[in-house]
Amino acid sequence: MKALRLEAVGVIALREMAKPSPGPDELLVRVEACGVCGTDRHLFHGEFPCRPPVTPGHEFSGIVEAIGSSVSGFSVGDRVTGDPNIACGRCSHCHAGRVNLCRNLSAIGIHRDGGFADYVVMPQKQAFLLPAGLNPMHGAFCEPLACCLHGVDLAEIRPGASVVVLGGGVIGLLTVQLARLAGAATVILSTRQASRRALAEELGATATVDPSAIDVIDTISGPAGLVPGGVDVVLECAGVRETVEQSMRLARPGGTVIIIGVTPQGMLAAFEPFDLLFRELRVLGSFLNPYTHRRAAELIAAGAIEIDKLISRQVSLDEAAAVIAGPPVPGEVKVLVVPQRG
Ligand code: NAP
Ligand code: ZN
Repeated sequence: MKALRLEAVGVIALREMAKPSPGPDELLVRVEACGVCGTDRHLFHGEFPCRPPVTPGHEFSGIVEAIGSSVSGFSVGDRVTGDPNIACGRCSHCHAGRVNLCRNLSAIGIHRDGGFADYVVMPQKQAFLLPAGLNPMHGAFCEPLACCLHGVDLAEIRPGASVVVLGGGVIGLLTVQLARLAGAATVILSTRQASRRALAEELGATATVDPSAIDVIDTISGPAGLVPGGVDVVLECAGVRETVEQSMRLARPGGTVIIIGVTPQGMLAAFEPFDLLFRELRVLGSFLNPYTHRRAAELIAAGAIEIDKLISRQVSLDEAAAVIAGPPVPGEVKVLVVPQRG
């Protein structure tokens, strides 16, 4: 089979490899689609720890081709999505139900071979069924959607709530949709690219703003703003200092701020502790997808999330190395690697 191998930091190439066989509790899956994520670029540049050689790709789905001897509940031919994040189940955090904080967390596509290949092997406990009739490209969105779902769960959005989403990449655009599904009456997205603002409005944002053209705080939460006094919930999905700092100023007294965006390690942001206390803000980090992958799969299976408009491009395995080694292309939201194209 063909697999895209990260052989060392800065070295990625398509290689011919032996087709893997599943262990007793594993599934062998023929990959239908695997999304390219910012983390794949971080791995390539050595900005995220991993031990090459490894096949990256953690947003994958496909068809079960073979099952291990002790697998139950899956059959050859099933369509499945993989939750890449494997918790040990034995550490104190796992025992406390916080599997995303597992002390021994490992991930398919980071610590073991992932989905930028014709085939991937995964433990059956990481697999979730998808309908046979689903568009095969949609399953690759379960993982990013599951991460957004955790953030939206933590936000405790109630029907009628006002919400701001900062950053209109795929995470922000999925979060906009989840906020509407959770019942938010007002969902405002701030992002610089006009095409993303237009897309967000198609996907359910009630308003969008361009942070490079206006004062975000004033336009949204100022006295004559869209939601004077601030919003119930802010979801930070850009991962830059500016948006982290904006997030706490956009929330109303008693409001909630969820940090989903990954800022560079060591980066500091300014906030006023007095303001945090005096306005009793709730500020939470949202990390990965604890127990949300199945619901993400259910939402995608039900067609409750608009996916097609988020797919900017499908590329073959041969083209994938250049996509990962290069910078994100302006205007694009999600690039999918589709092994069968090659
Ligand atoms: P992305 O495509 O880079 O999206 C972030 C977008 O934020 C940028 O493309 C940019 O779009 C926008 N942005 C940048 N500066 C901004 C500003 N000052 N104001 C408003 N928007 C700004 O990445 P993504 O895949 O959607 O992921 C978003 C973040 O979530 C990343 O940091 C990623 O690492 C993180 N993430 C976290 C989790 C988790 O579990 N917490 C899971 C997956 C991803 P414009 O050019 O349109 O402004
Ligand atoms: Zn653990």
